[in-house]
Amino acid sequence: MIEFKQVQKQYPNGLLALKNINLQIKQGEYVAIIGLSGAGKSTLLRCINRMHDITAGSLTVDNVEISTLKGNGIRQLRRNIGMIFQSFNLVTRISVINNVLVSFVPQMPLWRKILGIFTEQEKKQALMALDKVGILDKAYIRVDQLSGGQQQRVALARTLAQDPQIILADEPVASLDPLTANQVMEDFKRINQELSMTVIMNIHHVELALDYATRVIGIHDGEIVYDGRSKDITDEI
Ligand code: ADP
Ligand code: ADP
Repeated sequence: MIEFKQVQKQYPNGLLALKNINLQIKQGEYVAIIGLSGAGKSTLLRCINRMHDITAGSLTVDNVEISTLKGNGIRQLRRNIGMIFQSFNLVTRISVINNVLVSFVPQMPLWRKILGIFTEQEKKQALMALDKVGILDKAYIRVDQLSGGQQQRVALARTLAQDPQIILADEPVASLDPLTANQVMEDFKRINQELSMTVIMNIHHVELALDYATRVIGIHDGEIVYDGRSKDITDEI
C-alpha cells in the first residue's frame, strides 16, 4: 500500500506543488490522476519513486517511510516500481528485445549491455514480457521502425520484465492517436487485472480515465479535489 500523510512538496524556487496530500492506494488498484496542466500530477507521481523528495509529511510504500531511504534503499524501491513516460524513453537505434534486456537486469555489467550479450534465461524473460503486451513478433526489429503505440508497448514490456508491484505512468497515451491510445489503455488494464499490479496513471483525457481506471483522483492547484470510483462518476453523468 502507498500512503501519503499531509504531504507537501515545495520546489527550491518556493513553488508549492503539493499541499497537504492525504491519500491511500491499495495493492492492485488502477488509479487515474486527472487535472489541468500544472496541477501537480507529475510531481505527485514522481514523489512515489523518489524522483522528487517531499518537503513535509510522510510517504510510505508497504509501510516503509521512503523519504529516509538512501542509495540501496532507493534502488530497491525503484525495482519494485516501474515508470512509464509520455516520451517512451527507449533507445531507438537498437532492437526491441535489447531495449527490454538492457533495463531489467540492474546488476548486469555495462560491457554486457553495450555488447548486447545476454543469457538465454534473460532473453526468455524479455520475450515473455513482449508477449504480454502483444508485440512478440516485433522482438528483433529496431525501435525506430515501430509506431508510437508499439513503442509505448515496448516501454511497458521493459517495465513488466522487471516484475514490479507498482507501475507509475506519466501521461502514457498523450502523444498517441485515439485508437492507439485506447489499445495502450487496454494493455494497462489487462496488466492490472491479470498480474494484479497497481497502476497509477496521470492522464489529461478524462473519458479514457473513466473508461479504464477503477478510481479517479482529481488534483487542482496541488490539492486533491475529487476521489471516487470511476463507475460512480459515469453513473452521475
Ligand atoms: P502536472 O503534472 O499536473 O502538469 P506538475 O507536477 O508538472 O503538474 O507541476 C506542478 C507545478 O509545479 C507547476 O506549477 C510546475 O510549473 C511546477 N514545477 C514542476 N517542476 C518544477 C521544478 N522542478 N521546479 C519548480 N517548479 C516546478
Ligand atoms: P512534463 O509535464 O512532461 O513532466 P514539464 O514541461 O512539466 O514536463 O516539465 C519538464 C521539466 O521541467 C521537469 O523536470 C519539471 O520538473 C521541470 N519544470 C516544470 N516546471 C518548472 C518550473 N516552473 N520551474 C522549473 N522547472 C520546471
